[in-house]
Amino acid sequence: MSLRLRLEHCCVSAYNRGMQQYDAIILGAGASGLYCALHAARRGRSVAVLDHGPKVARKVRISGGGRCNFTNLECGAGHFLSENPHFCKSALARHTPWDVVAFFAEHGIGYEEKAAGQLFSDQGAGRVAGVLAEQCHRSGVAVLLEREIGSVSGTGPFQVETNGESLEAPKLVLALGGRSWPQVGASDLGYRLARQFGLNVVKPRPGLVPLVLSGKEAERCNRLAGTALPVAVSTNGQTFTDDLLFTHKGISGPAVLQVSSYWQSNDPVLVDLMPGRRVEVLVEENRRSNALFRKVLQSCLPKRILPEFIPKSIGETPVSQLSNKQLQQAADALHRWEVIPSGTEGWKKAEVSCGGVDTAELSSKTLEVNKVPGLHVIGELLDVTGHLGGHNLQWAWASAHAVGVLL
Ligand SMILES: Cc1cc2nc3c(=O)[nH]c(=O)nc-3n(C[C@H](O)[C@H](O)[C@H](O)COP(=O)(O)OP(=O)(O)OC[C@H]3O[C@@H](n4cnc5c(N)ncnc54)[C@H](O)[C@@H]3O)c2cc1C
Repeated sequence: MSLRLRLEHCCVSAYNRGMQQYDAIILGAGASGLYCALHAARRGRSVAVLDHGPKVARKVRISGGGRCNFTNLECGAGHFLSENPHFCKSALARHTPWDVVAFFAEHGIGYEEKAAGQLFSDQGAGRVAGVLAEQCHRSGVAVLLEREIGSVSGTGPFQVETNGESLEAPKLVLALGGRSWPQVGASDLGYRLARQFGLNVVKPRPGLVPLVLSGKEAERCNRLAGTALPVAVSTNGQTFTDDLLFTHKGISGPAVLQVSSYWQSNDPVLVDLMPGRRVEVLVEENRRSNALFRKVLQSCLPKRILPEFIPKSIGETPVSQLSNKQLQQAADALHRWEVIPSGTEGWKKAEVSCGGVDTAELSSKTLEVNKVPGLHVIGELLDVTGHLGGHNLQWAWASAHAVGVLL
């Protein structure tokens, strides 16, 4: 068949099947998919966004405990895990936290800064999702919800079959997120489609997730459940200083969530329960005191912690009578609490997915797949995972923007 005949044949079959034509199809109506769509549509592109959920941006709606920590002023490559730590630099540099602040400010959302650099929506997370939905609507994006993505074919143009409809576009963007929080629609479709296009997927694993302990350590955590304190937690050469929360199953809280992204099965996790304040120094300062060691420690630690970590015989000894051996034992217990978690609380509790589509096969500037021109991958689906504190959404916006202005 001649090229002309083949083209005519294609157009006729497309027409017969009721194929809807767009400039770009975006799979996934989450943070990255919507942000990409509205920037492309503002430039006059016809864009369809497909999602199987009944609402857009479901994860954004629950983010930041309902307050949406939508960016972080300190965002940079150092706050991301990836097999290629340089990959995120280009997109992050071209759409900065201040660009994101300006975008949301334009639509009536300001920010409140919590811990250093962490910006939360002053209108709540639902409003952030609302702005994304409204701006897509105003720019003419076709947001197609409750669509099961049946098949994706072609290598440009791409065809997508969904709920009896067929869509076709020269550009396809995978914005399907990772596997964390299946309760709000996360699935492994993004990884499966990436593999279908011949891409490697770095093994996904739960990140920013509570750690589960077993045996005596689990019993200890259970007794302490609900207690929080500032700690320094380390694993695999990474240390985070922030709060730890004891849970019925193990340990959580921001410091533990951060370290969990670096934790692999069987790795030990080291906890310093008194970071920045050595027990030896505390004892030295109170050497002449007849106060019980327990009482002196209580000035630095929550009361419930002590009987769990300091033997009664040591706690009830006056500081002035503490032996070097007892002091050493206390220092080890408080500064070097080592546990080997039996696992994590899994996808249902993980705020992000570590691993994902291998960045080695994409351009860091266009997020286009080198061997499949017209195919782009953005957001959490990629092997780019941020620390806690607004970095993951900043990556979603920045990677989406890099593609949205290209489509
Ligand atoms: C509880 C929680 C709180 C969080 N809080 C914060 C925070 O405050 N700050 C921050 O920076 N990050 C936060 N994150 C992480 C952040 O929300 C994500 O990194 C970000 O939403 C990723 O955007 P995305 O567009 O790549 O993926 P998503 O937002 O997950 O969007 C993917 C979309 O694809 C759709 N989809 C998936 N599978 C299919 C399928 N089979 N068929 C059709 N559609 C499908 C989903 O329905 C979804 O709409 C939080 C995450 C969780 C779980």
